[in-house]
Amino acid sequence: MSKIRVYELAKMLEMSNKDLMEVLEDLGVEAKSHMSSLDVDTAQMVEDSVKAKDKKNSTEEDSSSDRPSIKVSKGSSVKELAEIIDVPASDAVKALINKGMMIPASAQVDDSVLSVLSEVYELDLEWSDDSPEVVEDAPLKTFKKPILRGENLKPRAPIVTVMGHVDHGKTTLLDTIRNTNITAREAGGITQHIGASRVHHEGKDIVFLDTPGHAAFTSMRARGAQCTDIAILVVAADDGVMPQTMEAISHAKAAGVPIIVAVNKMDKPAANPDRVKQQLSDHGLIPEDWGGDTIMVHVSAKSGENIDQLLEMILLVAEMEELKADPTVSPEGVVIEAELDKGKGAVATVLVQQGTLKKGDIILMESSWGKIRAMINASGKQLKSAGPSTAVEILGLSDVPQPGERFIKVDAEKEARDSISAKDQKRREVANQMSPRMTLEELYSKM
Ligand code: GDP
Ligand code: MG
Repeated sequence: MSKIRVYELAKMLEMSNKDLMEVLEDLGVEAKSHMSSLDVDTAQMVEDSVKAKDKKNSTEEDSSSDRPSIKVSKGSSVKELAEIIDVPASDAVKALINKGMMIPASAQVDDSVLSVLSEVYELDLEWSDDSPEVVEDAPLKTFKKPILRGENLKPRAPIVTVMGHVDHGKTTLLDTIRNTNITAREAGGITQHIGASRVHHEGKDIVFLDTPGHAAFTSMRARGAQCTDIAILVVAADDGVMPQTMEAISHAKAAGVPIIVAVNKMDKPAANPDRVKQQLSDHGLIPEDWGGDTIMVHVSAKSGENIDQLLEMILLVAEMEELKADPTVSPEGVVIEAELDKGKGAVATVLVQQGTLKKGDIILMESSWGKIRAMINASGKQLKSAGPSTAVEILGLSDVPQPGERFIKVDAEKEARDSISAKDQKRREVANQMSPRMTLEELYSKM
């Protein structure tokens, strides 16, 4: 039976953990903390209840809105609705995907589809009164993070992001981990940089994202994407908690991601780990040996001291999180980084979150699509397929996507191309009306 943690649900519903805990209490759902698990049916029930409340509030608030009002018959499919509002069906499907709703054009419209499309197309979509009640519930999921879809859930490697104040040793830590755990076992010893690396420890894999933690969290979160399972907070023992340390803590907490603290630079004479622990305790991270539940490991990224122990703790937390994914469902995931390469064209490093991505698959993102011409892993090896928790560089994209954009597999090239060209059309229209001082952000907000 699939489980969803309270914090994950909070994230999907764009609520704070605290607010959701209150809702759970009101609904009589038992949950000890934001780390508690709910089964999928309960989560769906909570989601429906929150959505219903939101909807009520918003209709109360903007009853005076002057958006064009359109009546929709219950039982309409997304495709039929798209026809009514005169947009390509693929565009509507795309808009839903961008909101984290993986819904085919043939699926029945429900309340959440109606509210999302109302917002995207600035319309007032309402159910028409005379339409028959729909008995059958459309099996729609609005989860932003693809969690536990499918029947064949298998354990997957944890995705780890390293965060911390500048100069506290993030890059050195990643390098040390990589050098002792990858290069040693690969011929040539040179690993290609693809924005993520997979290390092997005691028979298990851990995937480290190279993106500095803040960027990873902010650009991903701005798009509602979430790809980190565990955050490593690096704090230099000779410097202590600094502004970006606190920022990192709040990012990880907001995302509900467990934090492991690496108290770094322990080789330095000025190292004062107790002071670090005291400061972290003041920010709610209480070390285990002080009766709290935050794992803290004393390390030296420079000398390699205790790095093994840090990796072991990552695997331990990963095990507690019961990270799983189904390799057999349709592949989806998130863009970690992307660039325009002179020789290769648009290249993106994507993280496959579930399903198995294959060479030749057609994938669709927010601003790009493509038939995968080649997939390359961190060691520069060409892959034919990439399962859950695998980061791969992909070639064959129409455009350079942004980090944080989600990708899904689509069946036909036409579907992908139509969706992107509808978007391009819109972009050109917006560009024509653009005032000279409009920022890129404003431009995107109009799309
Ligand atoms: P970042 O900004 O967090 O990525 O920090 P860096 O990894 O670039 O490290 C900043 C400086 O601290 C560099 O000069 C590193 O050599 C040094 N450094 C990092 N880790 C350690 C450590 O464990 N011990 C000592 N003595 N120096 C370290
Ligand atoms: Mg660095």
